[in-house]
Amino acid sequence: MKSHEALLDRFRQNGLKITPQRRVILGLLAQDNSHPTADEIYQRVLSVMPEVSRTTVYNTLRELIALGELTEVQDLSEGGLRYDTDTSPHHHLFCMRCHALIDIDHDFEGLALPSEDASGYQIVRHQVTFYGICPDCQTG
Ligand SMILES: [Zn+2]
Ligand SMILES: [Zn+2]
Repeated sequence: MKSHEALLDRFRQNGLKITPQRRVILGLLAQDNSHPTADEIYQRVLSVMPEVSRTTVYNTLRELIALGELTEVQDLSEGGLRYDTDTSPHHHLFCMRCHALIDIDHDFEGLALPSEDASGYQIVRHQVTFYGICPDCQTG
């Protein structure tokens, strides 16, 4: 993700006002690589800005996604939708016990869907998630 300032610039360029709420949310996200859920983001914003509404936080997340500065990790069967501040193509490891989600720095070269298996879909992107038990949960 870009720096806090670069993100604020993107908002301005797109005609979006930099409200104090947006400023706080962007500041938190710019230094977060834990793939938080929307609710986790909301709770963190709440701890520094007690008057913020859930709607404001969720709307800001949607704006960031529309700007291409935030992506959703959608293919998790447990733990719900997560937000990813790294918008470049990459893959994930997911702990089925504590729901930790971390990035995999590995290029799955050759991973492709042959067109005869794509049911006529035009493929835009793909995302691989490996499900397992993280080291902390193995010992705990
Ligand atoms: Zn774990
Ligand atoms: Zn990620």
